[in-house]
Amino acid sequence: MKISLFYKPNKIEPEYIQSLKNKISSFGFELDDSNPDVVLFVGGDGTFLRAVHQYLDKLDKISFVGLNKGHLGFFSSYSDQEEDLLLNDLKNNKVISKSYRLLKASFAGNEIYAINEIRIESPFQTLISEVEIDNKQFETFRGSGLVVCSALGSSAYNKSLSGAVVSPSLEVMELTEIAPINNRVFSSLKSPLVLDSHSEIVLKPKTSNILIGYDHLTIKDDNSEVIKFTLSDKRVSLLCKEDYNYITHLAKAFIED
Ligand code: NAP
Repeated sequence: MKISLFYKPNKIEPEYIQSLKNKISSFGFELDDSNPDVVLFVGGDGTFLRAVHQYLDKLDKISFVGLNKGHLGFFSSYSDQEEDLLLNDLKNNKVISKSYRLLKASFAGNEIYAINEIRIESPFQTLISEVEIDNKQFETFRGSGLVVCSALGSSAYNKSLSGAVVSPSLEVMELTEIAPINNRVFSSLKSPLVLDSHSEIVLKPKTSNILIGYDHLTIKDDNSEVIKFTLSDKRVSLLCKEDYNYITHLAKAFIED
């Protein structure tokens, strides 16, 4: 099995990485950054997001597994005390693989993908955008932004906006508002909307100079008239311990000390 180590170089000590590389070799694995079977990300969720975007064109051939080091680590199954356990589990195939669909947005000839969410934002000027769902006019939104997240990303930015945390085993998209303007004159749904996997959300911004954010990345967009959001056919495979349980993991991440 070929393994690539992925980490933020400025966040992880080189000595730690060297000792982990030695350990990987001592377990009989080959280190290969070009065509790995497994990307072992060391860090937190931000590191996972960056690793997936780095290998976006090879997702069908790669699995990801996380060694959490000093972060929330929602995507990581193993702590930094468990390097041996992780490598042992990989060697003995004692991991389970879960696969999740990425979100996709198409606009002005571009296609972007995201694990967590894709959002349009206008921080300094009110964003006005038509919202169409499945070819039906739904609302005219006014506010600071709109977020479309996957179930996997529902515990990230979406959660800060009081969106529902959705079990990642459900294939859904969730639309959440950022600071909507609601008064006698203007009105939007005012609550998160969960849609099925076949749905298509189309946003038609009337405001120029909006930002399109996707995971940790951002594009400045001056003139997209139509932005189409769907669940894509691209999938990411995440390895976790055999006894992984989503509810226990969620409680550990957000409730327990
Ligand atoms: P960051 O500001 O360093 O990370 C934001 C926090 O979100 C970190 O604690 C990260 O965990 C956690 N996180 C990421 N994905 C998660 C998920 N699916 N479930 C639960 N927690 C998750 O930014 P970043 O590292 O560049 O990550 C980009 C993400 O930050 C975006 O996709 C967006 O979801 C999130 N974000 C949140 C807000 C907000 O809540 N107001 C605003 C902007 C962006 P780790 O500590 O393990 O890295």
